[in-house]
Amino acid sequence: MPDLKNTTLHIGFDDTDSLKGGCTTFLALRIIELLDPHVDFIDYPRLIRNNPNIPWKTRGNGALCLTLRVNDEIVEKVVRIAIETLNELLEEDPNTNPGMVFVLGEVPEEIKQFSRKALTDVILISTTKDIVEKFCFKHYSVGNSRGLIGALAAIGNSLNPTSEDFTYELLTYRKPENVGEKRDFNEKSVVKADSKYSAEVFNNIDEESKKVLIAPAGPDPVLYGIRGENPLILLKMMEEIEVYESISSYCIFRTNQGTDQHFKFASSEVKNYNAFKGEIRTLEKPRTILGGHVIFQGEIASNEIKVDVAAFEPSKSFRNTIRKLLPEDIILAYGGVKYKEEFQGFTIQLEKCEILSVSEQFKEESPLCPSCSKRMISNGLNKGYKCRNCGHKDRDLRKNKTPIERTLSTGLFIPPAQSQRHLIKPFRRYNLPQKDSYFLIDNWWKVFPKAK
Ligand code: ATP
Repeated sequence: MPDLKNTTLHIGFDDTDSLKGGCTTFLALRIIELLDPHVDFIDYPRLIRNNPNIPWKTRGNGALCLTLRVNDEIVEKVVRIAIETLNELLEEDPNTNPGMVFVLGEVPEEIKQFSRKALTDVILISTTKDIVEKFCFKHYSVGNSRGLIGALAAIGNSLNPTSEDFTYELLTYRKPENVGEKRDFNEKSVVKADSKYSAEVFNNIDEESKKVLIAPAGPDPVLYGIRGENPLILLKMMEEIEVYESISSYCIFRTNQGTDQHFKFASSEVKNYNAFKGEIRTLEKPRTILGGHVIFQGEIASNEIKVDVAAFEPSKSFRNTIRKLLPEDIILAYGGVKYKEEFQGFTIQLEKCEILSVSEQFKEESPLCPSCSKRMISNGLNKGYKCRNCGHKDRDLRKNKTPIERTLSTGLFIPPAQSQRHLIKPFRRYNLPQKDSYFLIDNWWKVFPKAK
């Protein structure tokens, strides 16, 4: 039989929600539901987190891509359904600027490169439009069209299993009448399921505060999201989480969350809002400033630029590590760059940090008296030391240098889960075997029928 669904179509979209409501993942599920009778999905919807440092994000700078096979005679119909659904579900807000792009067939190298840049840099709308015009079969945008940036980046970031790390997130959605109300589920059942599947799930609980992290705070339609390595385990975990309100639907997404993907491409260039990865030499002892943030000045090894380095209050115990730094320690800093107008300088906002070397530090003290063993005092500039106890003087004595025991050791330090941004790779994900494939499981999404 000829392959009727002979065309591959990628649909990328972003920036459809606001802090007042909506969720781009929910839009993805609605489009999946409407397209399902006409197309074959060949990947999970990809939830791609882009540069977390850009100031105009709503929450986690997430964008979506659907990849599917379709009969070329109905491509136009599919495009129409996707755009109509976006218009139906988008949140009207001055800061919401939706964008949707459509690419047919192989994703061009230019779009892949664009995606890598979107993880670490700030991209202009005009640059994006040029690429969209050149390579996209169709596009649609509202407002200032900024959503096209994330939309295109989601298409180019294919999370190829043989070259990129990836994870899954299962999101459950609420009934419309419950949106805005307190989310109602049994936290103990989450703790239990998290410990049962601990090798395959991550960041569902904050280990330090024991807080359950699966539910967002805002008036969006998500009830909870659970993150892990295996879609089948996520389905099982969903069944074991006790909820006291009905779930209207759920969907499993393939994502770059928890992978450090932005740091794979980040550099030590100091540019406002860029992702940063580079060696820094500590120039001073860190200090705690108003609000509990810990800050110190350092010098970037590769370009000798002096920057402030900050660990913010929400990073909790991570700050204790940073407080132990002393001059001449060397760290590998992972974070974001922020220009501070008031200090006319740049700050590296730490997201994680590897202590590479801990400097030797010494305590300097006056020598002990050779005759009576009491501590001596200076006898004046270049005049050596004298003893107040027995009167002994010695021009040739020098200060004693004794090494200070450092309480800081080399190694990797990551803030607790509750303050981690989506892209950060948590400790639980280190040393996992590399996945090399994915396949669509049965029931990777479901919309439950409405009760009559
Ligand atoms: P949510 O997490 O709830 O989906 P969000 O945090 O993704 O929301 P958006 O409302 O999508 O926030 O806004 C992010 C905006 O930033 C989008 O318009 C997106 O296209 C744009 N954007 C994403 N990455 C970059 C980048 N590297 N440079 C410039 N703009 C970007």
